[in-house]
Amino acid sequence: MPLRNYARRRLVPRLVFALSMALLPLALGSSIIYWQALRSLSAEARTASHEALHLFDLMLGNAEGAAKVALSQKGKPCSDSTLVLREQVAVVPFVRTVNLTRDDAIYCTSLFGDFKAQLEGSDYVDGRLRLMAGNPVTPNVAILILRRVEGEYGALASIDGRYLSNTLQLVDQRSDLQLQVGGVWMDEDGHVHAGTPVPLPIGHIRLVSERYPYAVIGGFPEGAAWIHIRQEALPLAVLLLTLGGVSGLACYWLWGRSATPSLELERALMAGEFIPYLQPLVDARDGRWVGAEVLMRWQHPREGMVGPDLFIPMAERSGLIVPMTRELMRQVGEGLAPHGELLGEDFHLGFNISAVHCTETRLLDDCLSLQAKFLPNRPTLVLELTERELIAANDATDQLFDRLDGLGILLALDDFGTGNSSLAYLHRFKVDALKIDKSFVAMIGVEALSVCILDSIVELCGKLDLMIIAEGVETEEQRRYLAERGVDVLQGYLFGKPMSLDAFVQAMREESERAR
Ligand code: C2E
Ligand code: CA
Ligand code: CA
Repeated sequence: MPLRNYARRRLVPRLVFALSMALLPLALGSSIIYWQALRSLSAEARTASHEALHLFDLMLGNAEGAAKVALSQKGKPCSDSTLVLREQVAVVPFVRTVNLTRDDAIYCTSLFGDFKAQLEGSDYVDGRLRLMAGNPVTPNVAILILRRVEGEYGALASIDGRYLSNTLQLVDQRSDLQLQVGGVWMDEDGHVHAGTPVPLPIGHIRLVSERYPYAVIGGFPEGAAWIHIRQEALPLAVLLLTLGGVSGLACYWLWGRSATPSLELERALMAGEFIPYLQPLVDARDGRWVGAEVLMRWQHPREGMVGPDLFIPMAERSGLIVPMTRELMRQVGEGLAPHGELLGEDFHLGFNISAVHCTETRLLDDCLSLQAKFLPNRPTLVLELTERELIAANDATDQLFDRLDGLGILLALDDFGTGNSSLAYLHRFKVDALKIDKSFVAMIGVEALSVCILDSIVELCGKLDLMIIAEGVETEEQRRYLAERGVDVLQGYLFGKPMSLDAFVQAMREESERAR
């Protein structure tokens, strides 16, 4: 069943194809969206880091201003300087404490006034900056200390770690920012860690301040790209999904279209899969080969040799039967013409012609180009029109059949007895021969009524002076019966089954040698 199974057999590849076509825009689009997300996250991390760097420089600038003012008190007793130090703490933004040092020892603070504590200058990066997790006054709050040295004197201005962590958090709420000073760093929660922070997986950036010895590190944690896509690219993702769905459905539909039986027939025609088989017609009196009927076969790449009953009806419905018959005529012409000498003078070559073909004047051209390949009037072309599919008689068909008649082409009414053609029909189309359907022949010696019909058909043909051909002759008894009734030509397995062109030429050659 080459056509009936066609669509079903192709369902799996069709589904796979449609699914791939649905996934393709999805996969492509997702990669583009993901890549785009990475790009925009990197840009965001860079902007945020620049912004944080700018703010930290600003804070440290303030602290440096306060330290400068504090240093104006150098050499004075602490009791005279305390007010100035406290004033700085009060008026300068971000500054929490200001202390004065001499020979690396703190001697005056904004908080306590007179104070004694040792200072490790080497704890300061470049001698200028130190990030601490806390100090004895506020052990849980980080501080960033700026140191300014002028000779033996120095000033320390500290910035509250909460300003720093707020800045890290608020500059960009989505990205991760860190402040690194020498061997320690602060996270967004204000915790200070020793060592170097682990590089951030997405958009990692490290910006070093040009004014102070610290760096800002920015980036995004793992999974940020998907969160970003969910927040920013949801409509695009929905569009992609729809696009994928539409493309999948379209491909499924398109494949379905190409899987229709008529397109499969068209493909087979282009691939040259329709080939002629020839069955001999013999003279009822002496068994001589006097003709052949051309029967179409489909040499299917997977199904093997397919008989016409399975595809001719579809070919007729789609109109493809016309180019298929033309192709058959071409192949027969090319295969038989070189062996024309094997065909006797009264050799009849029959082609089955569908009703749709008869409405085309191109039938005439098809017959002409076939005849042109052979010697004149050899073989005689016979067009077999089935009685089950009567042709509507009109001026065009009258003209066509007149011209065919003029070319010496005969008309045979096929399957005679199974349809309902009238005598008027036989007359109108100037039918030259009747082919008695094999169902009647099969009844010889079996059923009296059918044989009675057969007898009257034979009698009718004699009266109308029509040539008579009986098909489906399988037994000697049938042959004898038909020959005795005066049937001219016989066709059937008794004499030869339909065979390929090459086999037919070979058989004809053997026939002609036997006749000699
Ligand atoms: P049909 O025109 O009546 O052709 C005769 C059918 O009887 C052929 O079947 C042939 O193989 C078969 N046949 C011949 N001798 C015997 C016999 O002794 N016993 C039995 N049981 N059968 C025999 P096939 O080749 O299968 O063709 C079937 C039908 O398909 C044809 O019936 C014809 O109507 C159609 N057909 C075949 N080729 C063409 C074509 O090229 N064009 C068109 N339009 N129809 C075609
Ligand atoms: Ca026929
Ligand atoms: Ca028949």
